[in-house]
Amino acid sequence: MNASPADQRRLVDVAQLDERIVQADRARKNPPQAARVQELLARRQQLSQELTTRLGLRDDLRTELSRIESDVAVVDARAARDAARLAGSSNSKEAQGFESELAALARRKSDLEDAELALMERLELADAAVAEQEALIAATNAEGAELSGEAKRAVAEATAAFDGATRDRAALAGSVPADLLAMYDRIAARGTGAALLRARTCEGCRMVLAGTDLQALRQAPDDAVVTCPECGCILVRDGESGL
Ligand SMILES: [Zn+2]
Repeated sequence: MNASPADQRRLVDVAQLDERIVQADRARKNPPQAARVQELLARRQQLSQELTTRLGLRDDLRTELSRIESDVAVVDARAARDAARLAGSSNSKEAQGFESELAALARRKSDLEDAELALMERLELADAAVAEQEALIAATNAEGAELSGEAKRAVAEATAAFDGATRDRAALAGSVPADLLAMYDRIAARGTGAALLRARTCEGCRMVLAGTDLQALRQAPDDAVVTCPECGCILVRDGESGL
């Protein structure tokens, strides 16, 4: 294959654009924030499960508290009724009965109020536990929203870079002779398609070429298309090749 040194040089630019296209494609498919966003989604699910548990506990305490409150109301109603009967009673034996029942009701109410107080303390802790969990979820949501926004911007940037490089590549490839471009594309499908030879080093694979290989390159005419004996890419020679 023969091609002018200028056409060969264009292949190096095509190769750079191809690399940018691959990088931009990777960046738009997997923005750097994606992993953390996934972590946050998993964390939010865990936090929500724990919140459900804490809400359940608080609901149970509220139910228990309202049961005690209605027990207190029953005791109060009964005490009021007994007190009224006691006031209207002229029978001393009957009055004694009401008095002892009123005393029992007072003890029962005192016990219920103790239990109510203890329960209210637990309910306060349960409320705090719920609030703490809700704050954690809110913070996780906020971080997730911010990162998702960043990821969206990164994807938009990478997409713009991908589209730009793809357009540039098409324009540049259009100026390269078809047979040379076909050779490039065939090699590029496996790795680097073309690279400069700089100071006896292939910039495609970073290998310093051996003396016999360099000797062969020296003897090749400028318009001969040569390949790297190490990686097989089209090796583009210029004044800085060290030949
Ligand atoms: Zn090479």
